[in-house]
Amino acid sequence: MKLYNSLSHREEDFIPNEGKKVAMYTCGPTVYHFAHIGNLRSYIMEDILEKYLRYSGYDVKRVMNITDVGHLTSDGDTGDDKMLKGARREHKTVMEIADFYTKAFFADCAKLNIKTPDVVEPATHCIDEFIKVISSLIEKDYAYEAGGNIYFDTSKLSKYYVFGEVSEEDLEVGVREGVEEDGNKRNKADFVLWFTKSKFDDQELKWESPWGLGYPGWHIECSCISMKHLGEYLDLHCGGIDNQFPHHTNEIAQSEAFLGHKWCNYWFHVHHLNTDKGKMSKSSGEFLTVSLLEEKGYDPLVYRFFCLQSHYRKSLVFSWDNLDNAKQAFDKLIARIAALMNEAPGEVDKEAFERVKAGFAAAMDDDVNTSNAVTALYDVFKADTNAATKLALIEDYDRVLSLGLIEKARALKAGQEAAQSDIPAEVMELVEQRKQARKDKNFALADELRDRITAMGYSIRETRQGTEISRIN
Ligand code: AMP
Ligand code: ZN
Repeated sequence: MKLYNSLSHREEDFIPNEGKKVAMYTCGPTVYHFAHIGNLRSYIMEDILEKYLRYSGYDVKRVMNITDVGHLTSDGDTGDDKMLKGARREHKTVMEIADFYTKAFFADCAKLNIKTPDVVEPATHCIDEFIKVISSLIEKDYAYEAGGNIYFDTSKLSKYYVFGEVSEEDLEVGVREGVEEDGNKRNKADFVLWFTKSKFDDQELKWESPWGLGYPGWHIECSCISMKHLGEYLDLHCGGIDNQFPHHTNEIAQSEAFLGHKWCNYWFHVHHLNTDKGKMSKSSGEFLTVSLLEEKGYDPLVYRFFCLQSHYRKSLVFSWDNLDNAKQAFDKLIARIAALMNEAPGEVDKEAFERVKAGFAAAMDDDVNTSNAVTALYDVFKADTNAATKLALIEDYDRVLSLGLIEKARALKAGQEAAQSDIPAEVMELVEQRKQARKDKNFALADELRDRITAMGYSIRETRQGTEISRIN
């Protein structure tokens, strides 16, 4: 399988450290608000990657953190604490907020058929691990104390900007947001590992540490939670593209300084979901949630389908028109699968199954090209094989795509059958006669039968899925 690696800026063969075993880590949500559908684009694409690895025979262990402490409004160390902001907004405690939005996140994931990772660990459960790693970084002279806080000293690394250079302007993001530069830092890029001198006097969550009562920085949590559950060597790390800097850059800095060797081989970054006003974000402006899609009558899986139609390394523009197009295509797709279920099934042809499936695998092996994988799904209808084989292929691809295709087609077919059963036997008899007349190319008779059916109060329509009969109101 080829995977684009953000570290090398090119597609590489994916080769895990230990044969078929894959150690995979995902940056989890900051649980101070609902996830928006931009966040969920990242989780959908990561879910597809995980499922395709499993489908290809890899034994994946996937770990995800829950950020319930330490994430400030700028991804650097400035601004307000996001959790505290959420708690103030809703007049609740930080832990109540964390609990509520963690549950909401997994409920949204379930609606989008996103599998829960094997291990989910909230940052607040790992304070001892953070303290251990920070203490070691101080011992190794990679970290220093200043003004009560502990900072990572980026000047100690031969290369800090591992994903590519970052402009001074990007480093000053906090300043742009009207927040004061932290004068304790020795170098502009240094970042906080542990806060004691919090500017938030009412910071709710604080823990004892060798440096006084305080709380961890955001970046340290992912390094420690990953090492706790996946060991010293990580195969694959995922996140949205905005995590590349500073978050993932800092994760690599502190993990490799602590371990003394390379930590993670492949970095998978999902590009953003944008609106016509720019990036969708939790902290600014209006954002769209799964519940809102449902309120507007969309099946959340239509949104999943919409995401799959484009490649994860391209930014994707959300609009209601674009979602409507995806809905129409999705409904048609389900109807075509339901029609396949009406055909004489036959036996699954193993040879044809393997031949056709190679098209799907080729698309997915090519850097998780889901838009080509969706094309491969449509190719199944055209394949030179029977309905049983086609249905088996669709079911097989859906182990990865997770669109509920077979289930939805079955439900549609059951609904169609129930509607048909309300149609009087005399009308059905004429419909069957008309089908035969069309087969015999006796169109005059077919037209006459249609008129008789219409006179009895029913209309008929020929569709790709067969003859549709409905009552004229
Ligand atoms: P957060 O809850 O803010 O920590 O973000 C959770 C995940 O969503 C991270 O991997 C982010 O990189 C990702 N993310 C944030 N905004 C977007 C967006 N507009 N489109 C896609 N992914 C995003
Ligand atoms: Zn992270």
